[in-house]
Amino acid sequence: MTYDLTNRTAVVTGAASGIGAEIALVLARSGARVALLARRTERLTALADRIVAEGGQGFAVTADVTKDLSDAVRAVHDTYGRVDLVVNNAGVMLANPIAAGRTDEWSRMIDTNISGVLNVIDAFSGDLIEAAGSGPSDLVNISSVGAHLTFPNFAVYTATKAAVTHLSANLRAELGPLDVRVTNVEPGFTESELAEHIGNAAIRDAVDGWFDGVGRLTSAEVADVVGYATSRAKHVNLRQIMVLPTRQV
Ligand code: NDP
Repeated sequence: MTYDLTNRTAVVTGAASGIGAEIALVLARSGARVALLARRTERLTALADRIVAEGGQGFAVTADVTKDLSDAVRAVHDTYGRVDLVVNNAGVMLANPIAAGRTDEWSRMIDTNISGVLNVIDAFSGDLIEAAGSGPSDLVNISSVGAHLTFPNFAVYTATKAAVTHLSANLRAELGPLDVRVTNVEPGFTESELAEHIGNAAIRDAVDGWFDGVGRLTSAEVADVVGYATSRAKHVNLRQIMVLPTRQV
């Protein structure tokens, strides 16, 4: 489905695959200019080419959200100017028993899912506040239903997502009065590359079992929610959206 996002300028992080790639597509098909940000340049370029071939506007920005983003910000500003729609979607999900002591995995998740989200907010919050003076302005954070549930072996991942959900609620309290909408999206089981990065084979198989048990959303189905939320009238803010496969309880 498409929406009216004509004249909007968006940045989507984690646009190289899964939910982020589908968000980029729905925003571009709805008329937005979309900067596609992630680490895998070939994936981003292929998606940008697809968007342009469809008649939309998209370009690839190779960047790691855990690192300095000033080159990426400059590239976005040079190409499209001020941004008024930021989707903080990049994330990693790694899993192991806490007693395995995989502090390397903990750091990767904290760096990407929390510090990375904050880096992106730091990079574009000035744009969002300025843009709100003349039109709609959106910060969308992709959290997870895991922010509210307990999953053994996923303590650190779910904690990072709880942090994103709490961050979103507090940012809304701060930015809402400035006319910047903050939308926190909490997907349930969704088809993507996310679980492929779990190195522990037994846990990866268990995740497949959960997914097979209740089904999973497509990434496009989650992306559709972002298109809907960001295309409402400027004074309407869907603050918190949990989107689940119907059988996931
Ligand atoms: P994918 O693994 O398919 O997508 C993750 C994206 O993040 C990729 O495009 C990856 O691209 C990018 N990324 C990872 N690390 C970095 C980094 N350091 N800098 C920039 N980009 C990065 O998984 P999903 O599409 O499922 O994940 C998207 C979001 O949805 C995540 O935040 C995830 O936690 C959340 N989510 C997913 C659910 C699911 O069931 N799939 C459920 C609930 C929430 P690259 O490697 O090229 O950098």
